[in-house]
Amino acid sequence: RGKSEGRNVYRFFEPGMDALMRERRVLEVDLEAALSKREFELDFQPILDIGSGKIVGAEALMRWRSPSRGLVSPENFIPAAEETGLIVQLGDWALRKACNVVANWPRDMRMAVNVSAAQIKSGGFARSVIAALAFSGLPANRLELEITETVMMDESDAVLRTLSQLRGLGVRIALDDFGTGYSSLGYLRRFPVDKIKIDRSFIRDLDRRDTAAIVRTVIGLGAELGITVTAEGVETEAQLGMLRKAGCGEAQGYLIGVPSKASDMSRLLHSQALQRQSG
Ligand code: C2E
Ligand code: MG
Ligand code: MG
Ligand code: MG
Repeated sequence: RGKSEGRNVYRFFEPGMDALMRERRVLEVDLEAALSKREFELDFQPILDIGSGKIVGAEALMRWRSPSRGLVSPENFIPAAEETGLIVQLGDWALRKACNVVANWPRDMRMAVNVSAAQIKSGGFARSVIAALAFSGLPANRLELEITETVMMDESDAVLRTLSQLRGLGVRIALDDFGTGYSSLGYLRRFPVDKIKIDRSFIRDLDRRDTAAIVRTVIGLGAELGITVTAEGVETEAQLGMLRKAGCGEAQGYLIGVPSKASDMSRLLHSQALQRQSG
């Protein structure tokens, strides 16, 4: 639409959009300030090894404790952080923090950290990971990077090189939200992956015959490929029972534990370690 149509017309049609765009811009500016004000936190959700019944690690999940907005979910701020590029610094912070935390946990605990496409494309990602490992003293094989298909979708050569380099150091790569994308199987063939995390939408519908068949097939696929399979969003004993029967390796979800503070997680893990020594 041309400018000649006049400002009134523009105002009539655009106010809603303008408000949304303004709101988004305010969010982006607030996010940037939030990093220097240390308003971000990590919660940790335990991951269960189904066979042994032991917690074998945790996933770091970011939260924004904003004085004006309250506790903001990552779903509401990660996209904005990705758009401005702030995710590179923010992700770097999360990586370092998560490595420091798990370095103080029992030695058999792993830490999973979510990684955005923008971080890997930014160039210095491998260096960031290496620095986080060095600063924390964490062995590379205790760190797992969770990536989604959006990471693999474009610039796949550069992404592939970076992931292969990290994997060469012993860092594990997990394919997050498996089954929700366009070409999950294709990516599995092209990218080096150590773990598949079945998206929680499949686990939610496990009582449907077709969904159960898909989940069993993904578990079988993992076995064929020698890849660990983790079920996300496990909320009921019935779901866990079905997954165990199907030979699923790991489970994560509210049934096993909700995301919680590092101090709560470390208490849980140390009591488990003591139990193991005496049991
Ligand atoms: P995700 O990596 O797939 O993480 C799992 C999400 O499922 C988390 O949501 C977790 O709280 C939730 N969840 C876990 N168990 C259950 C369950 O039993 N039932 C239900 N309904 N939900 C469950 P959260 O913490 O809101 O995080 C959402 C997404 O935000 C994550 O999905 C991840 O994609 C992204 N995210 C979180 N932290 C980071 C981060 O540090 N960096 C990046 N780039 N993304 C992050
Ligand atoms: Mg994840
Ligand atoms: Mg997921
Ligand atoms: Mg997700």
